[in-house]
Amino acid sequence: MEKILIVDDSVTVRKLLIHTLKPRNYTCVEACDGFDALEKLAFNPDIRLVISDLNMPNMDGIELIGTIRKNPQYRDLPIIMLTTESSPENRKLAFDAGANLYLVKPSPAHIILFKVESLLKADDTSG
Ligand SMILES: [Mg+2]
Repeated sequence: MEKILIVDDSVTVRKLLIHTLKPRNYTCVEACDGFDALEKLAFNPDIRLVISDLNMPNMDGIELIGTIRKNPQYRDLPIIMLTTESSPENRKLAFDAGANLYLVKPSPAHIILFKVESLLKADDTSG
């Protein structure tokens, strides 16, 4: 099944997301910050979608998304920002960096699943 990269400095949040996605047959790869995420992406070219936190040490989610989008290989990779930050400023920063979607924590599992499925489907039809 499709491989999803989960980026969050909170182990609890990562485990919760895996708990949501794994029963739907998604394979989950975990990263604890932006640098770790870039490394995991490089080692897993079959990652189909990224769910990233905003506030993280070393490299935050905004910088991570900007860096991902600079690589033409990841131009169409769906990215969801999942954060406790609900301000319009942060939302704008995330979209300007290249996020496809902005969700505020805590987001119910069924919403996350629906959004993941929709983005993967949209990605399919664009070829
Ligand atoms: Mg965090």
